[in-house]
Amino acid sequence: MGKINLKALSESEIHAFMKDLNLPDFRSRQILHWIYQRHIESIEKITEFSIELRSSLSEKAYISNLLLLDRKLSSDGTEKYLFGLYDNESIETVLIPDDKRLTLCVSSQVGCSLGCIFCATGRLGFKRNLEAYEIVDQIINVSRVIAPKSITNIVFMGMGEPLLNFNNLVEALFRITKLMKIPHRRITVSTSGIVSKIYDFPKKAPKINLAISLNAAEDRIRDFMMPINKTYPLKVLINACREFPLLPRKRITFEYIMLKGINDAIYDAKRLIHLLHGIPAKVNLIPFNPFEGCGLEGSDDKTIIRFQEVLINGNLPAFIRKSKGQDISAACGQLKAN
Ligand code: SAH
Ligand code: SF4
Repeated sequence: MGKINLKALSESEIHAFMKDLNLPDFRSRQILHWIYQRHIESIEKITEFSIELRSSLSEKAYISNLLLLDRKLSSDGTEKYLFGLYDNESIETVLIPDDKRLTLCVSSQVGCSLGCIFCATGRLGFKRNLEAYEIVDQIINVSRVIAPKSITNIVFMGMGEPLLNFNNLVEALFRITKLMKIPHRRITVSTSGIVSKIYDFPKKAPKINLAISLNAAEDRIRDFMMPINKTYPLKVLINACREFPLLPRKRITFEYIMLKGINDAIYDAKRLIHLLHGIPAKVNLIPFNPFEGCGLEGSDDKTIIRFQEVLINGNLPAFIRKSKGQDISAACGQLKAN
């Protein structure tokens, strides 16, 4: 039998594995602590274990690691990490410093099947889902690199559609909250709007924040920008948002990429106010980040500011998201790990 990858095991599977080896349960808790809180990369590093225990355990098991292929630093402090996976695929993870926060933007899939026209990952097509441990390992690896600083917030806004990798996402969230002890309130999953999974999610996963890539307030425009809208049109998407159980004092974030002449008119803003009426919502207006061959143009600053004013006057909190990491192609929608 081959060696067992301890990171491929869930918490209960670790307990079972150690029990099979006739090791007491506190050893399982120690392993979980060293992997998820001390971010060690091999069994040899568990110095709380005797040398004998480490070597006997190493005969049966090992700890996998993503391969750090590249790390680029932007002039604004944003860092992009390129990680290699066991099958030679690669993914990108972005670390974004902002005031006192250090937010890690993680990937959930290699590529994405949904083909939104404004997104470089979408143009790649879909390769495969990430394993739960490959999702969590992005956090573990970056934590190791930036120590003694630590990550404060996690957003699932990297490559891929998290809700289409549902089971692995749920398992990853359990590990992130329970084993890594990152607070629920600091974790956000962003989705293009997989409605069936938005309903399922709160029943199966730890409670976290929800963000919706909305981008349009009218089906005709959203159909064009995001093909998933043909399966789950705005009416059903917004109903699912209305029913989503929010954490106390939290709102759903609606992301809205501003595209010149497509979704940036005053009447688009008015439709948006109407659409989100009654939902605890906030809107993030996102300046479009172009990528090679995209054939699209972002709205100009004046248009974005005017759009924001209309939303705020309509009592809809709206923010213009600063675009970070553009000089290293680490900005939203530019991830393609090529
Ligand atoms: N699949 C999920 C999460 C990954 S995309 C989703 O769609 O929500 C994360 C964010 O990147 C989304 O809010 C999307 O609107 C934004 N994004 C994609 N391409 C972009 C681009 N070219 N410029 C700016 N933001 C972009
Ligand atoms: Fe996929 Fe999200 Fe990009 Fe759309 S925006 S293609 S859902 S990663």
